[in-house]
Amino acid sequence: MLRLTLLKTITTALVLHLASSVIVHAKEPLPVVATFSILGDLVKEIGGEHVSLTTLVGANGDAHVYQPTPADARAVSSAKVLFVNGLEFEGWINRLVSASGFKGEQIISTRGIDAIPFAEEDGHGEGHGDGAFEWAGVFNLAAGEYKWSFAKVDGKYADPAMKMVIIKSGDIEESEKSAERLLLAKSSETRLHNDRLVAKDIAYNLTFDDAKSTTVFTVNIKKDGKYTFFTEHMPFEFEINEHFLKDLAGKDVEPIAQEPDTGHHHHHGTYDPHAWQSAENIVIYADNIAAALAKADPENASNYTTNKTKFVSKVRKLDVEIMERMKAIPEDARTVVTSHDAFGYFSKRYGIKFEAPQGLSTESEASAKDVAKLINQIRDEKISAVFVETITDNRLIQQIARETGAKVGGTLYSDALSGPEGPAASYLKMMRYNSSTILDALK
Ligand SMILES: [Zn+2]
Repeated sequence: MLRLTLLKTITTALVLHLASSVIVHAKEPLPVVATFSILGDLVKEIGGEHVSLTTLVGANGDAHVYQPTPADARAVSSAKVLFVNGLEFEGWINRLVSASGFKGEQIISTRGIDAIPFAEEDGHGEGHGDGAFEWAGVFNLAAGEYKWSFAKVDGKYADPAMKMVIIKSGDIEESEKSAERLLLAKSSETRLHNDRLVAKDIAYNLTFDDAKSTTVFTVNIKKDGKYTFFTEHMPFEFEINEHFLKDLAGKDVEPIAQEPDTGHHHHHGTYDPHAWQSAENIVIYADNIAAALAKADPENASNYTTNKTKFVSKVRKLDVEIMERMKAIPEDARTVVTSHDAFGYFSKRYGIKFEAPQGLSTESEASAKDVAKLINQIRDEKISAVFVETITDNRLIQQIARETGAKVGGTLYSDALSGPEGPAASYLKMMRYNSSTILDALK
């Protein structure tokens, strides 16, 4: 009897021990890190209970300009998978990764999406923070006549027309204020092929001759000296092989200074990072996340796949829903203003045009000339609503609303979720909230 009890006790203890070690093993979730709240929500949807998730930039936080903490470095150092958005969204991540001694797998969640290049040529360059002119060049010119030519590229001119200002000055900075004023002024003088340009207190509206492969203007310089030319767009877009300014003998005339001074190639290479603003892209994020989790934790691979499938079907439904909502907005009322350029993918997918005084990152500051330009545009195009964002300083938007009479249509969540009590506590909720906020303001 005694022996039997003892044996039973030992057996029970052994079973308990085995059971508890099995439970501990099964319950130890995979340590993972996501850089910001929106991405964190996607990882949570797919990882579920099998991951232990740390999100670095939390609700209402701005991941463009984040300062990682020592706690972040600890979380990254013990993580098996680090999920980043990529497309240069998290400018601080490489330093954090090397400081933390991270040994796991870093996953660029946007890999495979059709990224939108940072482009000056959408619209007429508004909203991208580069001001009224994209190029300025100083030339040392003797009195006489010169030819400025614009050639078609791939069979067409980049724009049907472009403004240019010529100022008698050898200093771009010194003359740029006057140039901006002239370029933004309502009045300008139209010039056609073979027309004459002089240094003058007016912007020329150079109109390109579509019937010709090159449109040429004559520049008439009355006095020897330095002249600064400001162009609304990069003149290099218009030239093929030939230089754009020549003297009458056909000899190239090079600028002695120019801005930007990168020579004949403007470096883009940067993409709009806000890919999550199209629900279509989230299917790709979800694939990347599920694949990375399955690789790091093969035992739970089927769970990750199941979770992904469920989530993706909700995302697809959301995508259709937003499309239908945006279609309900009258076509001539589909332009809105936000603080920073975070809605390029939303725009492309759902057909709403966004303008912003700040560029693609909250790091850049809106310049006075961009704001002035935007205010004019709101008045000219009768844009009815401006929106504030949770992650940006909204005083500028409030000021724009006051000056134009446009109403503040509400708050949009661009780069971060709200807290759990807020209206955008998950990706799906954020997208529904943004689209219904836009619909309510514009319909
Ligand atoms: Zn942003």
